[in-house]
Amino acid sequence: MNFDLKILGTASAMPISDKNPSAQALQVQGRLFLIDCGEGTQQRMRQMHLSFLKVEALFLSHIHGDHLFGIFGLLSTMAMYGRSEKLHIFAPASFAPVLRFFLSYFGEGVNYEIEHHPLDCKAPELVFSKKNLEVLAFPLQHKIDCFGFRFNEVLTARQAEKRAPRSFAYCSDTMYFPELAGWVKGVNLLYHEATYPQALADKAAARFHSTTHDAARTALEAGVGKLVVAHYTSRERDISLFEKECRVIFPNSFAANDGDVFEID
Ligand SMILES: [Zn+2]
Ligand SMILES: [Zn+2]
Repeated sequence: MNFDLKILGTASAMPISDKNPSAQALQVQGRLFLIDCGEGTQQRMRQMHLSFLKVEALFLSHIHGDHLFGIFGLLSTMAMYGRSEKLHIFAPASFAPVLRFFLSYFGEGVNYEIEHHPLDCKAPELVFSKKNLEVLAFPLQHKIDCFGFRFNEVLTARQAEKRAPRSFAYCSDTMYFPELAGWVKGVNLLYHEATYPQALADKAAARFHSTTHDAARTALEAGVGKLVVAHYTSRERDISLFEKECRVIFPNSFAANDGDVFEID
């Protein structure tokens, strides 16, 4: 009964030799979902033996290139493999012209339906519910419209007698704001960006990003089980610094590397 998170990219604005920009794959009891789709997502999926055709839905936090530039290649590859199943994409309204552009220039041979579900909420809202998973979207505070996602496992009555449902939340680019902890309250695993170490807090504030302490503070206030951070600035190559700084506030913190797998339990 797997429920795990595979880290496909941990860089921020620019790719680094061993780090792709943001992308993650969530596996829920054999089902596969993608969260953000930075450049290099396809190669990392191949390395981690993830099927392009199995992706049921794609959740895009915002229309910044480091979360999006991998999508054209991915959609094309799905077409080349003869995908026929509909693909659901949950993304801000501003994704509509991007998808139109793709389909008008590269849409020949795309024989599967792509349905864009525009995100537009001021508080957590249920956007997806099917079988053993429900997903809520909620607004983050970034330079442009940006959304986080909470993935809740839904148990059958029989499963519920034996164990509690598991949950994961993805907080993409955002600055700290107090409501966020309430929206990700009690999740087993929280991913939260930590673009900057604490020494660069002024840069974080100016660019609507978080520091290690911001991420850890949200994890602590939300009472989550485990915190995973990434989206590192290219200015700092020592990833252990991010982990150390988070652990000052929230001990069960981990700085992710590309290719890491986190079991959600
Ligand atoms: Zn970003
Ligand atoms: Zn951004």
